[in-house]
Amino acid sequence: MQRVYLDHNATTPLAPEVFKAMEPYLTGEFGNASSIHAWGQRAKAAVEEARENVARLLGAQASEIIFTSGGTESDNLAILGIVEAARTRSCTKHVVTTAIEHHAVLYAVKALERQGVRATYVPAGSSGVVDPLDIRRAITPDTVLISVMHANNELGTIQPIEEIGRIARDHGVAFHTDAVQSAGKIRVTAAPGVRLLSLSAHKLYGPKGVGALYARKGTPLRPLMYGGHHERDRRPGTENVPGIVGLGRAAELALEQGHEEASHLEKLRDHLEEQILRRVPCAYVNGGASPRLPTTSSISFTGIDGEGLVIALDMRGIACSTGAACSSGSLEPSHVLAAIGKSREEARSTIRFSLGRTTTREDIDYTLEVLSEVVNRLRSLSPNYKEATGDQLSAISIQK
Ligand SMILES: *Cc1c(COP(=O)(O)O)cnc(C)c1O
Repeated sequence: MQRVYLDHNATTPLAPEVFKAMEPYLTGEFGNASSIHAWGQRAKAAVEEARENVARLLGAQASEIIFTSGGTESDNLAILGIVEAARTRSCTKHVVTTAIEHHAVLYAVKALERQGVRATYVPAGSSGVVDPLDIRRAITPDTVLISVMHANNELGTIQPIEEIGRIARDHGVAFHTDAVQSAGKIRVTAAPGVRLLSLSAHKLYGPKGVGALYARKGTPLRPLMYGGHHERDRRPGTENVPGIVGLGRAAELALEQGHEEASHLEKLRDHLEEQILRRVPCAYVNGGASPRLPTTSSISFTGIDGEGLVIALDMRGIACSTGAACSSGSLEPSHVLAAIGKSREEARSTIRFSLGRTTTREDIDYTLEVLSEVVNRLRSLSPNYKEATGDQLSAISIQK
């Protein structure tokens, strides 16, 4: 059976170059980067080289990079760290974020709310893009942080972070962006308005369990944990040297290959979408008219249960997902699709394909072949879709 992996937004395979760079630090070069002896110094040098490479990917300075255990920790450190360090004239603090953030951001903000911080969740339109004017309107004199993701993990839609950064700067408010999905796929820079930016190694062909937070020079940040003086007192704990080396090499590869890779993958993604729309009736692309990551495609198939479709495709060797990997298994439909105005029915009928470095034209053609066959079979069994088969109009009325 052919095996096709189209779930790169959940995680990416480790690049062979990354594995090769990590290997010595999993074997002979096992030193603690804080030790004075030669083992320690070699580990320290490797960590600092990785820091340079991550900084270069973002157009930042090495001293502005904090290594963490991944995207979730970076988001939490940014949000909890800045809000706890912030001082306001009044005693209430306020945070502006959006309804389409990853749970690593949403739940961190919810945790702050339980401690008395106020929060505004700006909606995204049906396009899957947040309007910067809505962000501006949400700012109050108590606002200490704006957190808006760069690219959405379910839709791939790219948020106008330069503009939001300018607004944040004009109002003297710190701005954090979760760039976990965009880093390494499209150009991600620590633009002037961005104070904090999160990324994760395993979303860009690096290892799991390691990430970074960019924190612009002079950004006050309270650590989440207490211990040693690692990472300039902002993130204690013995460094994950092999992981950090892997992230550094992954960042270097992204900088070298990212641009070419993106245009190649965009062509494959467009081919996938065009052919689905041509071959499968009553299918539509979510966020398709907005600026998007070249790798992501969120597609609804009227009358189909998305989870059933994912399972049926898996049985034919194709891996995709119903949305965010961390929410699958929950019965609630995606908060992102709800936030862009999709009904429960529509959200349930949606699946996500996400392409990556090793995706080939053959992978896409095999997926197209299997997909039309599976969708037709599922629909022929679906009472919801029975009357609608081949009839666009009645399918649309069923959606409502
Ligand atoms: C995957 C992801 C995260 C979490 O990163 P981990 O390294 O898996 O903790 C955060 N934000 C977004 C947008 C993601 O896609």
